[in-house]
Amino acid sequence: MKDGHIELDGNIPHLGIEVDESALAKIRGDGMNEKRVKVAVLGLGIMGSGMAGQLIAKGFDVAVWNRDRAKAQPLGHAGARIAASPAKAADGADFVVAMVADDDASRRVWLSEEGAFAGMRAGAIAVDCSTLSVEWVHTLSAAAAERGIDFIDAPVTGTKPQAAAGTLRFFAGGDPAVLAKSEGLFLAMGTELIRLGPVGNGAMLKLINNFLCGVQVASLAEALVMIERSGLDVQQAVGALAAGAPGSPLVKMLAGRMLARDYRPNFVPALMAKDLRYASVAFAEQGIALATADAARARFEAVAADFPDADMAAVIEPIRAIRGPSR
Ligand code: NAP
Repeated sequence: MKDGHIELDGNIPHLGIEVDESALAKIRGDGMNEKRVKVAVLGLGIMGSGMAGQLIAKGFDVAVWNRDRAKAQPLGHAGARIAASPAKAADGADFVVAMVADDDASRRVWLSEEGAFAGMRAGAIAVDCSTLSVEWVHTLSAAAAERGIDFIDAPVTGTKPQAAAGTLRFFAGGDPAVLAKSEGLFLAMGTELIRLGPVGNGAMLKLINNFLCGVQVASLAEALVMIERSGLDVQQAVGALAAGAPGSPLVKMLAGRMLARDYRPNFVPALMAKDLRYASVAFAEQGIALATADAARARFEAVAADFPDADMAAVIEPIRAIRGPSR
């Protein structure tokens, strides 16, 4: 930072943002930022703050908005313009990216009186990276089209460290020509833009992805409490499972957090419960009853009530807290 301004294309240490030189080279090669592409980022929670930080560090002209304005201040210090509403953030933007909790939040940031669509010009590109229901994504896309705005649904895989490091993967649904125009934007925030076909397909795959993740994390929590009570050596037993068939990257990562009781938030349980709820609805439309997701969702809802700001790894705590009859 010099004279209150960041040096473009640099790291932003106070946000924990580090820029990978090869990603910068790619954006320069695309010519994406020759005229400083204008991007508005709406929603500066765990994920949105890291994504906005990467865009600033890579030389985009960034405006930010968050419901709780305090969360925007560090990005303001890093060089973003802090806007008073989504519409004001979106004014003049080439791209508007939303990263908010759920369908209700998405509706508010795009469609309310002060929502982004009220500030966007026709021809600008709206991108929603939040994990949303498939039905809402279709509604939102139609509302964008009525205004002459192109829309991409692009939920992400990766969590807090990947957002901060610009190594997310995007599950994208949208018009191929619009996706082609947007590739440089996505590669500033991530490593891979996975093109899945029309709008809605990003949300669909993301919900299938999080269904698989949610049931693994809930069943891992149950398994770990069993290991703790069984008399097995905990480290040995978990090591043996992790080295075998159940040892997915997610199981390995979450087992470590659950055993260390490290609940610093990467992904809060209420959001996993929401994803499983949306997944159940989408699967039901294809005649598939998500019995395992519904059971896992009850686990995440229980922990969300007691530990709303904890990481989803805390899903193990209510299970630890209940003791059955001992033999
Ligand atoms: P988060 O830290 O809880 O942030 C949620 C964001 O949504 C905040 O900016 C919050 O604003 C905003 N918000 C909530 N309700 C709102 C409303 N009614 N109107 C306007 N803004 C509202 O969540 P996150 O972890 O960044 O997740 C964001 C999205 O990414 C979610 O859809 C989540 O499922 C998805 N996702 C998360 C992860 C992860 O590992 N964290 C990974 C992949 C996908 P305030 O700050 O004012 O509350």
